[in-house]
Amino acid sequence: MFDLDLDSAVSWIKNRGYGSVAVQLPEGLKMSALGISDFLSGSAGVAVTVLGDPCYGACDLFSDYRKYADALIHFGHSPIHPQENDEDILFVEVRANPDIDVYLAAVSQKLPQKIGLLATVQYVGLIPNAKKILERDGKTVFVGRGDSRIFHQGQVLGCNFSAAESVNDEVDAFLYIGEGDFHPLAAAFGTDKDVVVFNPLTGDIKSVKEIRDRILRKRFAAIETAKNAETFLVIVCTKTGQDRSALADSVAGKIRERGKKAYILLANEIGPDVLLPYNVDAYVNTACPRIVMDDSAKYKKPMLTVTEAEIVLGLREWERYEFDSITSC
Ligand code: SF4
Repeated sequence: MFDLDLDSAVSWIKNRGYGSVAVQLPEGLKMSALGISDFLSGSAGVAVTVLGDPCYGACDLFSDYRKYADALIHFGHSPIHPQENDEDILFVEVRANPDIDVYLAAVSQKLPQKIGLLATVQYVGLIPNAKKILERDGKTVFVGRGDSRIFHQGQVLGCNFSAAESVNDEVDAFLYIGEGDFHPLAAAFGTDKDVVVFNPLTGDIKSVKEIRDRILRKRFAAIETAKNAETFLVIVCTKTGQDRSALADSVAGKIRERGKKAYILLANEIGPDVLLPYNVDAYVNTACPRIVMDDSAKYKKPMLTVTEAEIVLGLREWERYEFDSITSC
């Protein structure tokens, strides 16, 4: 179903005369790694090294590739600026192109008048056609332009909903083209509009409002628990697209100003086992925002975003709650 476009990768390798490439794939494509390695080495005569560490997004880009190969091919994600400026990195987006005409025409009448369209990189190619179909049905359609971390118009990342924010005032609701809750939830976190998920493979639609509200209630509970905390571990991630050291320093300073203890922890992979040795009352996460929003139940102590820490410290009202996102500076 997904198009890996390996022929373009072969042409790129040959045109640029590389003798070796490192290949980085997200978890869902790792099963194809050996086949890709065979294809590239067979068709382009290149030595291939498969990178085995987990990869969750372009935020995880393996920037040290020159130690092991002439070039890097990163599959499955679009670049996060300024990654696209490295001429020795090829981003191979994995696109799906199902026929959505009948499905979308069938759900169109259930949507409000003014619609903002969103998608992940796999489905951004469907946005122009979806716009045409909805406009043919009399809808007014908007496709937002995100900040510089967002490569395509209408694209949403799990940590960046700036494309949705840019048209939030114009629309009655968003229609997200894709599967699962992860990316549409980011848009629901960052806007005050309903986000309707349209599955382009089945034609099903559903709202993520209930899930969003449930997560918000859990965030309130975590904040209340953390109000008793005296010691905080402020987490910084070394992944190129997640490193927010300055933000971590800033929140650690605020914690200390309130007479509490703050430690800074630098790590590449954040998980319950990694944090286990550090005996603190609460964590403040500056790495991927979804560690807090989706996975906080895995941690023994309250896991907070920076904004949530500000509420805990009495520096911000709950009414001014903001979901965390990683935006361009
Ligand atoms: S920081 Fe998190 S949500 Fe953002 S791209 Fe990376 S893995 Fe995805």
